[in-house]
Amino acid sequence: MAAEYLLSSVHVHTKLCDGKNTPEEMAVTAWKQGLRTLGFSGHSHTPCDLEYCMTQSRTALYKAQVEKLKERYAGKLDILCGIEWDLYSDEDPAGYDYWIGSAHYLHGPKTGKYYEIDWREEDLAACIRDDFDGDGLAAAEQYFANVAAVAAKKPTILGHFDLIKKINAGNKFFDEDSERYKSAAYAALVAAARSRCVLEVNTSGVYRGFRSDYFPGEEILKEWLALSGNVVLTADAHDAKALTFGFEPAAGLLKDLGYGKVLVLGRDGFVPCAL
Ligand SMILES: [Zn+2]
Ligand SMILES: [Zn+2]
Repeated sequence: MAAEYLLSSVHVHTKLCDGKNTPEEMAVTAWKQGLRTLGFSGHSHTPCDLEYCMTQSRTALYKAQVEKLKERYAGKLDILCGIEWDLYSDEDPAGYDYWIGSAHYLHGPKTGKYYEIDWREEDLAACIRDDFDGDGLAAAEQYFANVAAVAAKKPTILGHFDLIKKINAGNKFFDEDSERYKSAAYAALVAAARSRCVLEVNTSGVYRGFRSDYFPGEEILKEWLALSGNVVLTADAHDAKALTFGFEPAAGLLKDLGYGKVLVLGRDGFVPCAL
């Protein structure tokens, strides 16, 4: 019998935002894989037309399709209709079965531009150059302040805590070992603990070849444990093959770090699962 944490995948994207497969294809794969719970988490609408977010009509289609799948898979696979809510979204995430709170963008204090921080190097470079006086760590500090702002809204799951490092392999834009970086991350972590957030351990940076570590990395996970924080494993799956990618090694890492359990999201909310 597989561990419960291998049977729930709740950070999942589809073609309706920036994923590769339809909701139906994701559901079929999840069912064939023997999952108990599949939670969809499309990117929420944002008024500033951020790339990959769903439009309002897309969001309505998303909800309708997920509702249909819930009925079709009743008794076979528990399907949840969640949302990955962005800090700059104008949507109320309360109407969903659960929500992942995430910061994906930086709002330039000088130019007023919105920069996607986890995709194109030229975007992050322009953000640092034009809005943060060339100081990459200042951009990272703003990112973690945004994460703290998301945490204060008490999402069901706090998304990819240190996403700002995604395209920073080799410390290309800022030094992840610097005191400034660490203290900015720690301040956001304390804010998350204060809001009793559940942090996801998100394996997508590894799946997509950007990083060899997870979101968040080991140091932050150690600090989170010291703050008595809870975690849930997620794949941030953008295709059907990724639904539970890396869950076993991630669980192994958590155990090595001293975690005794992970939380597993299902139809009735979170349940603890021993490691
Ligand atoms: Zn995200
Ligand atoms: Zn996501």
